[in-house]
Amino acid sequence: MLEITRIDCPYCGENIEISVDCSAGSEQYVEDCPVCCQPIEMSTEVDGDGTLLGVTASRNDE
Ligand SMILES: [Zn+2]
Repeated sequence: MLEITRIDCPYCGENIEISVDCSAGSEQYVEDCPVCCQPIEMSTEVDGDGTLLGVTASRNDE
């Protein structure tokens, strides 16, 4: 079950569209920004019904 949502890139500030696999539950993964190619650390929050509650995008450069 893929959910389409949008986040702001923490590096370049661009609003980008991402697809989240809600069937996997809450998870963390790294996805490259399609605009500036920096590795964005995505943290997804999915409830027990597979509903996407939110996505947090943070920098992965420390
Ligand atoms: Zn970016």
